[in-house]
Amino acid sequence: MGCPLGGKEAYRQKFVVNGYSIMNCTECQHAFTDITLKPQEIKEIYSDRYFYGGKYGYPDYTLEKDILIRRGEKYAKLLSRHLQPGLLLDVGAAAGFIMKGFENAGWRTMGIEPNEHMAVYGRENLHMDIRTGTLEEASFAQSFDLVLLIQVIAHLFDLGKSMKHVSEKVKEGGYVLVETWNKNSLSARLLGQYWHEYSPPSTLNFFSKKSLDLLMGHYGFRLISRGRPGKKILGEHARSLLRYKFESSKSLKWLKGLERIIPQKARIPYPSEDLFYAIYQKNTK
Ligand SMILES: [Zn+2]
Repeated sequence: MGCPLGGKEAYRQKFVVNGYSIMNCTECQHAFTDITLKPQEIKEIYSDRYFYGGKYGYPDYTLEKDILIRRGEKYAKLLSRHLQPGLLLDVGAAAGFIMKGFENAGWRTMGIEPNEHMAVYGRENLHMDIRTGTLEEASFAQSFDLVLLIQVIAHLFDLGKSMKHVSEKVKEGGYVLVETWNKNSLSARLLGQYWHEYSPPSTLNFFSKKSLDLLMGHYGFRLISRGRPGKKILGEHARSLLRYKFESSKSLKWLKGLERIIPQKARIPYPSEDLFYAIYQKNTK
């Protein structure tokens, strides 16, 4: 095994989280796990507990409906500087809220989501075209003007196969929007192994801006722009993150007390200095 971004087999163990080793590539600084998940394990990770159970996922994802629809609208506005609305694929679409935001801005949308409950919710309540499944196993007849990988790239259990699919399914000159967590951010460096994104086996790859560019370049995409989403999450989600994340750390246990002072229904700006988005365009041949 080597770094999933290629190169030599030069890496060292950074730390162990949830019993899984997280490695750091000494060449490109990409961090990754060496876990090969079985289909049953993938099913288990994205079971309803992910969306309703707290811990790695959300206390109740559907409560964030309005926030996520607005986020979709914002991203659509951002992308309108580069291309006209067309057909997009949202990978890991969950209940289709972000898709809905894009639809409001004139896009036609398709989604794929491993959690059956979420996909059904999106199909029945929002009339979104969401398939149940994973990008690794999916095949689409269409090609897309835009593919959304919003907080999903770290979770892909076969990064190479997924990215090959993406590069084949994006039209010449089409776009990919990636939103992910920055392993070189201040909070990631301060928190070390307690950083929220180090949650294997749910997350498997941990990108920096540079290592994401490297991956995308490998599959024929070049960087167009990059920035920070002004992310808001519900108080309840923040409480759940704090509860789970700091339970296990002796030195950070005092932070758990913060949970009590965050109102459950409040919309709070999440300190997103560790989150970024990047827009890539497919190179024309
Ligand atoms: Zn590497």
